[in-house]
Amino acid sequence: MAEHFREDNVAAVGVRLDAEHPEGMIFDPHQPQLRVTDLGVVRGDGIFETMHVLDGHVRKYDAHLERLRRSARMMELGIPPESAWRAAVERGLEEYRARGGVPEELMVRLTATRGVDGEPASEDPEYAGTYWVLLSPAPAWAKADQSTQFSVTLLDRGVDADVAERAPWLLLGAKTLSYAINMASQRWAKAHGHDDVIFHTSDGQLLEGPNSTVLLVNHREGQTPQLVTPLLEAGVLPGTTQGAIFAAASRAGWELGYGPLTPQQLLDADHVFLAASVRGVVPVWRVDETQLRVDDEITEALRGFLAEDLPVNHPGE
Ligand code: PLP
Repeated sequence: MAEHFREDNVAAVGVRLDAEHPEGMIFDPHQPQLRVTDLGVVRGDGIFETMHVLDGHVRKYDAHLERLRRSARMMELGIPPESAWRAAVERGLEEYRARGGVPEELMVRLTATRGVDGEPASEDPEYAGTYWVLLSPAPAWAKADQSTQFSVTLLDRGVDADVAERAPWLLLGAKTLSYAINMASQRWAKAHGHDDVIFHTSDGQLLEGPNSTVLLVNHREGQTPQLVTPLLEAGVLPGTTQGAIFAAASRAGWELGYGPLTPQQLLDADHVFLAASVRGVVPVWRVDETQLRVDDEITEALRGFLAEDLPVNHPGE
């Protein structure tokens, strides 16, 4: 197997899942693996999850597998059972152990596509598509060190707040492979002097970042902090990071709130954060021309909540 090393000298590991290898089969991710007619490539017709592995432990494992199932349901896509995904991730970690050790921090991507049109990979609908797990060192874009702070721009997502319910075929709130718009918005942000994006609906409701959940913290002197996130019904992906933070914050006596939220409420918030699995919690210091306050203690409190890795429970799900 050809070894291609990243700058940090740790190779990525791929594990393929198919009906013949439900426990997963190691492959070299630097060699071609996919048919060019795979609908995941041709149409972005598939789903994924990005998980964070710290010290060999997958964080928020159940919540990610649950969301993968949810996205598959929304797409009417057959996927292997949870036990097969877990076995494949374990195979990947074993492969690292065999090569000398699991890196302290890994990004693990689960991907499922509808496979090649008209040529199901198996008669078993749970294995009809293409499925793989990719374990790799967290790339620079996904990493945030303790001192990272973001400037973000508010951008119109071009949908209204009711569209998720009215038009389920838009798959809002599913984690599909169709992220071209999300990537384009981040290029737009960078070209305009920002680090990231917060989307809002055309009728003025806050949504999420292109690959993160928005958290607002309001904290008045002497009062319990209040933690708020936009409403899922508006077509937001249920964030596992947000869910884990909320679970621990609730235990710590913080008040929790779920939108609807307006861009003005974002600008008026005491503190704003973007939260995502590999990046963790990143404070926002500026939204367009409005400067926000970054409070290291609150940031550390949220990171501490996330580290508790509590089970995630999204209201109304
Ligand atoms: N919203 C979107 C659109 C995302 O793509 C992501 C993750 O990449 C998130 C939110 C954050 O989700 P999680 O905290 O589960 O990583």
